[in-house]
Amino acid sequence: MDRRTFLIASASSLAIAGLVGCTDQRPPTPSPTATASPTPALVPTPAAFRRTAWSTDPFSRGAASFYATGSNPDDRATLQTAVEDRLFFSGEAVSANPGTVTGAIGSGRAAAQQVADLAAVGERIGVIGAGAAGLAAARALADAGFEVVVIEARDRIGGRIATYESDDWPFPIELGASFLQNGTGDPLVEELKNGGLTVRALPETVETRAPDGAVVEQSPVPAEVVAEAVAWAAAGRRDVSVDTAIADSGAGEVSTTGAISEADWLAQYLQTQLAADVGAPADELSAWYGVSEQAGDGQIVLGGMMAVLEREAEGLDVVSSSVVTRIVHTEAGVSMRLATGQSLTVDRVIITAPLGVLKSSALEFDPPLPFGHRAAIDALGMGALEKVWLRFDEPFWQATTALWRTVGTETDFAMWVNLQPFTGDPVLMGIATGDAARRVAELTDDDVLRGALLSLEPFARP
Ligand SMILES: Cc1cc2nc3c(=O)[nH]c(=O)nc-3n(C[C@H](O)[C@H](O)[C@H](O)COP(=O)(O)OP(=O)(O)OC[C@H]3O[C@@H](n4cnc5c(N)ncnc54)[C@H](O)[C@@H]3O)c2cc1C
Repeated sequence: MDRRTFLIASASSLAIAGLVGCTDQRPPTPSPTATASPTPALVPTPAAFRRTAWSTDPFSRGAASFYATGSNPDDRATLQTAVEDRLFFSGEAVSANPGTVTGAIGSGRAAAQQVADLAAVGERIGVIGAGAAGLAAARALADAGFEVVVIEARDRIGGRIATYESDDWPFPIELGASFLQNGTGDPLVEELKNGGLTVRALPETVETRAPDGAVVEQSPVPAEVVAEAVAWAAAGRRDVSVDTAIADSGAGEVSTTGAISEADWLAQYLQTQLAADVGAPADELSAWYGVSEQAGDGQIVLGGMMAVLEREAEGLDVVSSSVVTRIVHTEAGVSMRLATGQSLTVDRVIITAPLGVLKSSALEFDPPLPFGHRAAIDALGMGALEKVWLRFDEPFWQATTALWRTVGTETDFAMWVNLQPFTGDPVLMGIATGDAARRVAELTDDDVLRGALLSLEPFARP
């Protein structure tokens, strides 16, 4: 068999040059590669289209945190430690169940408890960010009798939960989180159901198609390659990235021949499975801590996740469209400077700004955060996920399964969820991960749409 070491760089180059979308938050930037892209011919023009750009969004700067090479669970534990009993960090990145809504809510409640244990009756508590963590923290503190003010940069609550509703769509679509990743045991399931939402199990079967439209059986090779590489790295003296482990362990010496080669399967696996949850690229993901067992079967939430946060926010003092730029803390309290130049003084503050924001210089701390906190923020990685939603007048596909993948194709959207089995509507959600997602976020709406339609072509073939 013709074998050679598989380089992850080739996996990255799999991703298409010119992909395409109706941006969630910001004006699209011109795509340098748009003219190089072929025109989609097999998939009809959708009746409605929506895309995201979380990676370039200044208030998220990515999708969710992951263990980058050299980081470890102590980094999250460090961030859970209060600074001078005045600053408290919370959010998915600080959670023991990172990258999830469930973890963010749990982290918000834990931070509220930390504050409640220290604060005197009548203290004023600030919460930066009205996402899942911030609203959970604020709710708990308000219910415990504290005066709470939530400062939110956007003109809406929800953060990385972003339900979108309009007449163009037959049901509310999720531009951010839409799945529960911890199986039926996820504590959020009951909360969502009590809120009138539907939670449906994702099927175990995934339909994978080759470029010619052939339905192909998922190869077991890539999971074996990654397991071998991770085992090799575990015996090493220092942490390396998953792609270094694959290359240096020899596990990545896979066949490059055949219509769909082992190398194609490996590239597809890294893009659609390893990076599926939080969008961590294999060349950044820690081989020691980054590859975890799936906690349980995935479930999809239907009906609009935002409803849960709207209930949580009822009666809270949420100041929206207010960007915190500087946090000054002293023995006496905390002052938050807003982008407008105004300041707000509180006794303590819970900071739920995403890791991507903390990594940037958008939020300044005076005095600077302790070394441990800065090192943790620097060490953890911020992954990338982007979504595209398409509604068609009629289904153009034969597949009846809800989960689709492609293999051997040059596409950024290698994973699709077919909503038809759940809602009866011809609506598809495409997901880009890792480097592909970062690239997609930079593209114009037209380029995102064209790329999405091209990536669906295997499903339009008989
Ligand atoms: C595309 C995508 C798909 C996802 N899919 C899933 C999924 O299926 N299941 C799942 O469990 N999780 C998923 N996640 C992750 C999940 O959405 C997050 O883990 C969770 O919502 C994070 O909540 P949070 O409160 O920690 O942060 P956020 O929701 O990001 O809240 C932080 C808030 O802080 C605000 N903020 C930022 N900077 C400032 C500032 N300077 N001043 C004031 N406010 C500021 C932000 O606007 C935001 O509202 C997904 C994420 C993305 C992007």
